[in-house]
Amino acid sequence: MTTTRIALPFAAALIFAQSGTALAQSRDSTLTGFPALASEFIYTSLAFSPATATQVGLHDWTDPYTGRSAHLDSLLDSFSPEAIAKQRAYFTGVQSRLAALDRAHLDPQTQADYDVVANAAAFALYGLTKERFHQFKPQMYAEDLGNSLFANISLEYADKNTRAADLTARVARVPGFLAVARRNLRATNDIYTKVALEETDGVTSLVKDMGADFTRGTSSAERYAKVAPPAIAALVEFQRFVKDTLSKRGTVDWRSGVGMFNAKWKYYLTVSLTPDEALRIAEDSMRKTRAEMLVLARPLHDKWFPTHKHEGDSTAVLNAIVSETLAHIGAEHANRDSLLQAAKANVEELTGVLRDQKILSLDSFPNLQVIPTPEFMRGVYGVAGAVFAPPLNPNLATFFWVTPIPAAWTTERADSKLREYNTYKMLDLTMHEGIPGHVVQGAYANLLTPDWRRLLRSVYTNTPYAEGWAVYGEHVMMYDAHVDGGDPVKMKLTDLKGMLRIYTNVIIDIRLHTRDMPGDSAVAFMMRDAFQERPEAEAKLQRAQLDYVQLNAYFAGVEEWTRLRQDVQKRDGKNFNLCRYHDTVLLYGALPLPEIRRLYMAGVAPSAKAPESRCGAANAAN
Ligand SMILES: [Zn+2]
Ligand SMILES: [Zn+2]
Repeated sequence: MTTTRIALPFAAALIFAQSGTALAQSRDSTLTGFPALASEFIYTSLAFSPATATQVGLHDWTDPYTGRSAHLDSLLDSFSPEAIAKQRAYFTGVQSRLAALDRAHLDPQTQADYDVVANAAAFALYGLTKERFHQFKPQMYAEDLGNSLFANISLEYADKNTRAADLTARVARVPGFLAVARRNLRATNDIYTKVALEETDGVTSLVKDMGADFTRGTSSAERYAKVAPPAIAALVEFQRFVKDTLSKRGTVDWRSGVGMFNAKWKYYLTVSLTPDEALRIAEDSMRKTRAEMLVLARPLHDKWFPTHKHEGDSTAVLNAIVSETLAHIGAEHANRDSLLQAAKANVEELTGVLRDQKILSLDSFPNLQVIPTPEFMRGVYGVAGAVFAPPLNPNLATFFWVTPIPAAWTTERADSKLREYNTYKMLDLTMHEGIPGHVVQGAYANLLTPDWRRLLRSVYTNTPYAEGWAVYGEHVMMYDAHVDGGDPVKMKLTDLKGMLRIYTNVIIDIRLHTRDMPGDSAVAFMMRDAFQERPEAEAKLQRAQLDYVQLNAYFAGVEEWTRLRQDVQKRDGKNFNLCRYHDTVLLYGALPLPEIRRLYMAGVAPSAKAPESRCGAANAAN
C-alpha cells in the first residue's frame, strides 16, 4: 500500500497495529444464493492461509465441511501436496458453483461481486497449477514464515500472553514447514538463491532475538526456549539445502515469459489496458515528462546557477539541469526533529481543503492517528506509511506512521534524507498515503453494505484501484485544488519525478520479463532517464527479477482513473460534479476499474451507508 516502505529481509505484508478483542468470526448463516457463496468463499480462502488470516483479522475458524475448528494464529501456511490438492479441489468447486448460477440474472452490483470471486478463484488456481512458486521460489518459504511469525509479534489482535503462545506454537512448526519446502522445491536461480539465503537469515534472527524478547516474561517463555533451537537448526539446514542441493536439482528462469506475464496481468491487475498498450504509453509519457521537466526546471536553474554552462548531448544536458534543480528544491525541508509535526500540519491542511473545496463529502477521520512509527517497524517503514484497521475489525484505528530520524544519525546523513523528503515531497506523500489517498479510500471502503460485500471487496482489494486512486488523489490536490506547498512549479517537478518512476517501473518490468532486456541495460536506463542513483536502480532491478506484473499496478491504476474522470467529465459537461463523482466511485469499494466504469456509466447507485453529502448541486466542485 505504501510507496515509502523499504524491504525487510522478508516482506511484511499488510501490518495492523491496534489492540482489540479478537472476535469470534462467523459467516452470516441467513444468506442464500450468491451472497452465501461469496461469504463462505471469503472465510474459507482466508483459512487456507493462516498467515494472511491473522493479518486480516480472522483468528478462529470452523471448517463447514469437516466441522473441525482451528486457532489460525497458531498455525503456519501449508504447502504440502495434500493441502495443495485440497485447495485446488475447493477453488475448482467454486468455479462449478459459479457456473451453476446465472450471472445475467444478478443485479449489477452483485455481478461485480460475482466477477471478483470468479477472478480470485481463477487466480488462486493459476498460482497453484501454473505459477507454482512452492516448487520454484525458495525465498517464498522464508517470506511466508517471516510474515507469519512477525504477525503474532506486531499485530495487537489479543493480549501479549495469547500472542506469545501463538508465536511459540508457530515456531514449533518451523521444522515441519521447512521439511515440506525441501520436498517441494525443484529449481532455483542465482537471484532467487541469493535472496532466499538473505531472507532466511532475517527469519533466523527473528526467531533468535525478536521472538525471544517478545515471549520473555510471558507464560510461554519456557516453552519458547525449547522450541526455538530446533527451529533455528532447521533454518540453517534449509539454507544449506538451497545453496548446495537445490541449485543442482534444476534452474528456473526469473523471466516469466509472455504467456505467464499476460496471465498474471489479467488476474492481478484486471484493467482494460494490455501490456503492449501500457508499454507504449509509458515510453511515450516518459519522453514527454522529461521534456516538460526541462521546461519547468530551466528558468529556476538559470536563476540559481547563473555561471553554469551545460554542453554535450541533449540527454546529459537535460539530466544535469533537471537534477541540479531538483537537488536545490530539496534544500527546503523540515528540520530533523519536526517531520512528525510537518506531517500533522499537512494532514490538517489537506483535510481542510477536502472540506472547503468540496473534493468529496467525508471530511473527518476520527479513527486516524498520526504518530511516530513504532520502533520495531522502523526498518520496514523507512519514511512513512498508512496502516489500516483489519477488514474484519474495521472500527480499530488507522495510522499514518512517520518515522523519526534516529538521534544517532550524523547531520550529513539526516540532511540527505531530509532533502529527499523535502517540503514538497512530504506534502505529496501525505496526499498519497493519507488525504485524499489511502486513508480516505479506506474510510469509504468501510461504509459498504451489506457486510459480506464490504468484506469481499476489502479482502480482495484490487491493487490498481487502491494505488491508482492514491496517485490520482495527489493530482486532484495539486491540479484541481491547487495545493502546492506555496510553489506550483516546485510541486509539479516533484510530482513529475514520481511519475517518471512509475513509468520506469512499467518499462523495465515488461521489457525484462517479456522482451529479454538485459539486467544491466535496465539499470543504465533508470540512471540515465529517471534520475535514479545506482543503488536505487539496482534494488529496483532485483525487485523486478523476484516477481512480475506487480510493478505495473500504480501506472495501470492511475491511467484508468484519469481516463474515467475525463470520460465522465466529457459526458456530463456542465453537470459534472467532482464531489459527487468521488463519493460514488469510492463507495463502490476497491473493485477492478473496468467494473467501476461499468457501474458508474450505467448510473448504478453504490450500496453503502453514504456520508451526508456536502456536494450540493452541479458545478459545486471548483
Ligand atoms: Zn500507495
Ligand atoms: Zn547546471
